[in-house]
Amino acid sequence: MLAISRMKAFISSAPHVSKTTPFALLSLASSSKSFSFSPPTLFQKPNLLLPKPNIFLPKRSIFSPQNVRCLQMEAESHQRSGEIHVIVGPMFAGKTTTLLRKVQSERGDGSDISDGHRVFDTSQNRNAITWTALISGYGQNGRVVEIAREYFSSVTRDYGIQPRAQHYAALVDVLGSAGRLEEAYEFVSNSPYKEHSVIWGAFLWACRIHGDRDLLKLAAKKYFKLEPENAGKYVVLSNAYATFGLWDNVAKIRDMMKESGLVKEPAYSKIEVQKEVHFFLKADTYHKQSEEIYEMVKLVDFSLKDSACAPRNVAIIKSIKDTRYGLDSIVTHDGVKLPCWPLKDLSSFKQKFTPEAYDKLDVIGIDEAQFFEDLYDFCSEAADHDGKKVIVAGLDGDYLRRSFGSVLDIIPLADSVTKLTARCELCGKRAFFTLRKTEELQTELIGGADVYMPVCRQHYVGGQVAVEAARVVLESQVQCAS
Ligand SMILES: [Zn+2]
Repeated sequence: MLAISRMKAFISSAPHVSKTTPFALLSLASSSKSFSFSPPTLFQKPNLLLPKPNIFLPKRSIFSPQNVRCLQMEAESHQRSGEIHVIVGPMFAGKTTTLLRKVQSERGDGSDISDGHRVFDTSQNRNAITWTALISGYGQNGRVVEIAREYFSSVTRDYGIQPRAQHYAALVDVLGSAGRLEEAYEFVSNSPYKEHSVIWGAFLWACRIHGDRDLLKLAAKKYFKLEPENAGKYVVLSNAYATFGLWDNVAKIRDMMKESGLVKEPAYSKIEVQKEVHFFLKADTYHKQSEEIYEMVKLVDFSLKDSACAPRNVAIIKSIKDTRYGLDSIVTHDGVKLPCWPLKDLSSFKQKFTPEAYDKLDVIGIDEAQFFEDLYDFCSEAADHDGKKVIVAGLDGDYLRRSFGSVLDIIPLADSVTKLTARCELCGKRAFFTLRKTEELQTELIGGADVYMPVCRQHYVGGQVAVEAARVVLESQVQCAS
């Protein structure tokens, strides 16, 4: 204590005080609890003539207990808490599809995967069946691949359950739903059940949903080879081919089925209760307790509907610049029509609604977000102030891999960021970049596969060189001609 008061006296009287002097005092102070010379006073004291410090000392937190209570009350006064989720990637990576799926799942199903999680954790009978249901739930939820992966590894580690083919298939479902087909393919190929049809069936489904024709063909071949005598597989396969309009393949499958004399068995469910297996066909009444069973199903159905959250109101905004698709609505792959607002800028969105109608809106999807200059302000107001869930999809980079519009500016505002990949048009590897095939130089050039292609790193670099060379040749030809 004596040393500190001497030091204070020394600083006050010293004609020359170096930058480090107060810090020496501070470090001494930190070792003494009774030191009362607070850092701000030290620097504010005019007669100390201290040089302005070039580092910042931590200030006292503004959150006193009273302030924290005010903050809590303020937060409680908002009924909804906003969220921002960003989906980026090159062209043809399925950003719009992912956006629509997320918006659609918000619209139709307000349930939260954490509910499933709670049920699993508190369940008395945690087993392979409840676990598969949980993992599949994550799959339909689509945005929590990492959690599902963690659960997959924890199943053996923490619950002592050995994963079987259907559990591997459940995780393939999760990866597939999230559009991570490449990862799903690797997972299938490295799984101990890679010779099991159920896992390839799940992968085939994912390829069909996400429109990957090459992977679908590959999966179809494998799937078929594993159990050719199962008639149901012919139907699954021919439907998968039909999704892509591969009508020759569809016809071939139907012919093969006819020739082999296979007839598809009707689908059924089975359940084992006290070592007795019960089979159920659609609408059958063969079971001796069928009356009671239907009564119970009705009851369960009723309580599920009763407890389901009200459907959420959604709106999708897209740029008026992109007129490649219809303007006032977007139709999803499964034929659901979602309302869509083609806008020049986002600030005009709110004006399209009455205050009551805007208030009822829960989810706002923004497609082709790179075209909106006021993205940052719009997102922060919608999520922070208006409590909306905002889902943003757009290109992170342009054809020269420079940041495109303000998509990257909103990352600091976001709850989550997903970078999707496409498949390289030249080698089939994962594609992170968009290569422009033509020699136009403006950043915004709207076009499809005629102008752009998704490429891997190697082919991006090679492609840039080729495009540049072609441009030079073209320019020299123009000069020669003139
Ligand atoms: Zn490539």
